Amino acid sequence: MNKSEPVYIESAMCPLPIRDRGHIILGHGSGGKLSGDLIANLFLPPFDNPALRAGDDAGVVEANYCTQLAVSTDSHVVWPLFFPGGDIGRLAVCGTVNDVAVMGATPQFLTAGFILEEGLEIGLLEKIVESMQAAAAEAGVQIVAGDTKVVERGKADGLYINTAGVGLMLPGTRISGSLAQPGDVVVLSGTIGDHGIAVLGARGELGFETDIQSDVAPLNHMIAAMLDVSDRIHVMRDPTRGGVASALNEIARQSQVGIVLHEQKIPVKTAVRAACEMLGFDPLYIANEGKLLVIVHPEDAEAVLDVIRQDRYGAEAAIIGEVKAEPNGRVLMKTAIGSTRIVDLLMGEMLPRIC
Ligand code: MG
Repeated sequence: MNKSEPVYIESAMCPLPIRDRGHIILGHGSGGKLSGDLIANLFLPPFDNPALRAGDDAGVVEANYCTQLAVSTDSHVVWPLFFPGGDIGRLAVCGTVNDVAVMGATPQFLTAGFILEEGLEIGLLEKIVESMQAAAAEAGVQIVAGDTKVVERGKADGLYINTAGVGLMLPGTRISGSLAQPGDVVVLSGTIGDHGIAVLGARGELGFETDIQSDVAPLNHMIAAMLDVSDRIHVMRDPTRGGVASALNEIARQSQVGIVLHEQKIPVKTAVRAACEMLGFDPLYIANEGKLLVIVHPEDAEAVLDVIRQDRYGAEAAIIGEVKAEPNGRVLMKTAIGSTRIVDLLMGEMLPRIC
C-alpha cells in the first residue's frame, strides 16, 4: 500500500479514514520547527479561533465589552524534579505567569493539575507544592483550582504538572508577536541558556561540575514596570524551550519582518558558553525560564532597558538587535568576526524534558 493512502480502521465506532501521518517524536516537543508544524497542521485547524490563531503565548479573549482576558496553559515535565535554582513547582507557576504577563496582562489566577506516579514520596510532593506557593506569592497570583490524578508505577516520571493562568489585560494594551515593526529595537533581559545548562548539570550530563543556576523567575513585576514607562512595546516573549533563536524566528514570521542580532551584545555567562562549546550547543537555542525578549519603538528602548536593569531579574539586560523590513521572516546574526549568518528555527530536539 502506498504510504500516502488513507489507513482504514475496521470498526463500526470509527468509520473515518485515519491518514498515516507517522508518529510523535521528541522533536514535536522542542518548541522549534516540528512543534510549529504540529500546531499549524493538527491543532489549529479543528480548534481554530482568532485568539488561538494569533499564535501568542496566551490567547486574548473578550470577557465583556470593556474587559479582555489573557488565558494560557502549560505542562511541565522537567527532569530531574529539582535542579540548581529551582524545581518543577516553581517552573510550573513562573512559566504560566510569564506567558500571561508577556501579553500585557496582569496575571491573577492559576489552576494546577498534577499527574502523580504511584510511589512518589509525599514529602517530596509537599516540597514542590510549597515551592509553587512561594512563586505564586512572589508573582502575586492565587492558585484557585486544581486536579490530582495518579497513574501506575512506571507510567510517569514522579510527577507532571499542568498550570493554566488568567490575567486581566491592561486597557488599551496591544502586544503580539505580529506587531514588530522595521526600526524597532530588540531588548533581552539578561544572560541566555542558564536554565537549560543548569538542568543538564543536574542530570549529570555535563561531565564536569558547575555552579550554573536556573534563571526560573516570575517576570510580571518587571513587565508591569516596563508598561508604565512605554506604551510602544510591540512584542514581548519569554524565550523558553527553543531559546532566543526560536522565539525570534516565530516573531519574524508572525510580523513578516527581518530581525538582525549582534552576537557580541548577547549576554552569555562564561560557564554557560564553555558548557555549550563542549557539548556542541548554540546558547541561542537553549531554554530560559526567567528571561524576556522585548521589541519596542527605538525612542522608548533606553527607558525600557533602564527599568529592566532596575529589576532583580534584569541586571544584565542589553539591546541585542533591531527589526528590519528584510529579509522577511528571517533572523540574521552579525557575528563577532563581522560575517552574517542565518539563525534558523530549531530542527529536531536538543534537550528533551527541559521544562
Ligand atoms: Mg512563552
